Amino acid sequence: MGDWFQTVVDKDVSPQNAKAVAADILDWLISAGVVLAERDDCVLSAESGHRPGPAAETVVDSTGWSSSFHDLAINGLEVVTERSVFDGGQGMPTAVICPRCDATTALVDDSYQPIHEVWKMFVDEGVFVWDAGEDDVTVPCPSCAQRVELADWKWADGTALGLVDS
Ligand SMILES: [Zn+2]
Repeated sequence: MGDWFQTVVDKDVSPQNAKAVAADILDWLISAGVVLAERDDCVLSAESGHRPGPAAETVVDSTGWSSSFHDLAINGLEVVTERSVFDGGQGMPTAVICPRCDATTALVDDSYQPIHEVWKMFVDEGVFVWDAGEDDVTVPCPSCAQRVELADWKWADGTALGLVDS
């Protein structure tokens, strides 16, 4: 059994509203008992987070788990309100799906080695450039040739690369 986590990204919130929206959602999660108000060392990527509350099971399906996630050392919620690239924790994505024509473009070959020309477009000149602070990063679709905003691409295989635009 492996460990896993979920990332929820509001791709439509403006940078000016991100902190207020995050505060409202966190207040709601605390009042609903989904997470605890107190913060402690319960997330890997931050100094502290919010542990699951008594009503966490109302939003998380833990059917089939061998132990309660309430007992885990790492089980908390981290709220991020800054430009961030989120990955699935297993490395970079293996493919992207065009939101215009639905074509899937592989980023790696059968040996999980980057396919140089598409990796360069989507990762080196896409994700890394956007993450460094560049706005309006677009990538042309290899299938339909339309230029698509980086945040609008769908990232395949559950890697869930999410972008909080600024
Ligand atoms: Zn396309």
